[in-house]
Amino acid sequence: MFTINENYRKLQGSYLFSTVARKVADYKQANPQKPVISLGIGDVTQPLAPAIIEALQKAVAQMGTPEGFHGYGPERGYDFLLNVIAREDFLARGCDISPEEIFVSDGAKCDVGNIQEIFGLDNRVAVCDPVYPVYVDTNVMAGRTGAYDPEKGVYEGLIYMPCTEENGFAPELPAETPDLIYLCFPNNPTGAAIRKDALQRWVDYANEKGAVILFDAAYEAYISEPDVPHSIYECKGAKSCAIEMRSFSKNAGFTGLRLGYTVVPRELKRDGVSLNDLWLRRHGTKYNGAPYIVQRAGEAVYSPEGKAQLREQIAYYMENARLIREGLKEAGYRAFGGVNSPYVWLKTPDGLTSWEFFDRLLNGAQVVGTPGSGFGASGEGYFRLTGFGTHENTREALRRIRELL
Ligand code: PLP
Repeated sequence: MFTINENYRKLQGSYLFSTVARKVADYKQANPQKPVISLGIGDVTQPLAPAIIEALQKAVAQMGTPEGFHGYGPERGYDFLLNVIAREDFLARGCDISPEEIFVSDGAKCDVGNIQEIFGLDNRVAVCDPVYPVYVDTNVMAGRTGAYDPEKGVYEGLIYMPCTEENGFAPELPAETPDLIYLCFPNNPTGAAIRKDALQRWVDYANEKGAVILFDAAYEAYISEPDVPHSIYECKGAKSCAIEMRSFSKNAGFTGLRLGYTVVPRELKRDGVSLNDLWLRRHGTKYNGAPYIVQRAGEAVYSPEGKAQLREQIAYYMENARLIREGLKEAGYRAFGGVNSPYVWLKTPDGLTSWEFFDRLLNGAQVVGTPGSGFGASGEGYFRLTGFGTHENTREALRRIRELL
């Protein structure tokens, strides 16, 4: 008899962004004369940098010639991209990662969602709370959790590691021992970064317990402080316990172009089996690689022109994040993040829930953000604003927020 994957029935609807969109649409319809500003956006807004467009155009032209045509690409990605990633993202930071340990893909979301396929279903999974929902939902789909408990806002069987003001938004080592640990730093949604000594503690813990860390470094390009590691491989021993995911979305604006990569070190083995071999098998079986022209665009991210242009883009978003953080603090809010991350995480005032604050901000200041409770139970009473807007809108939103008080 035909059956569906019953695990999908356990999933909670993607309530967060659809509810935000509906509330904003209703408000706009009722108040057409009041312009609404969104500081809720998680997508970049600046156009692609000239160096990237130039590389794309060149690659497109090549594809129309007999000599320059490229069909199916190599399984892990083209050497020109693997080599520059290994050199610029790792060797330049003192990390010994070779091109054979890198797998190019169409983005970090797919990798971070798919990677769990190479692990057994009985592995215990630990996630931060609040959390980027992909880590949770893909494990629910696979059947690594029990049912959702609406009272507690958690899936049974998952280990949640609360990240709150009390612990500086840094997860503590869990009481129950996990087999898989998802860490994301700089963090979405809290904007928190992790210091090298704190990350080293996680690496030591994982090596001691035999656990595997899945380290999502999608926001690495926003790190501004010197003692914040850009890669988990800056920690000693990480090659025997950690997989790292990177994205070209937030450092180079590839959210629509699509490019990312995953590092699976050769030393990473469990039960004598190389996880690099397993991921190669999975990658080669289910995926045909990122387009040649996009990999050429990715290569341009590392050119001197590309680097200079992208530094400016990131500085633009980070200036917005600074305006938000400082503006909120001046207005009496407790605000976090925004230093090594485009995200600012604020404590809602007057004991309001995240959604109550959302309504107050929309109705009183016509500003939209993202309720923290949508990212997990420990996000209740918090709210996320992002630096991905324009300077003009960000300044105007802050002016309105100050006036609201
Ligand atoms: N990881 C985190 C923590 C994110 O916030 C995002 C996007 O918002 C992604 C991964 C997705 O990256 P990509 O666009 O490369 O799929």
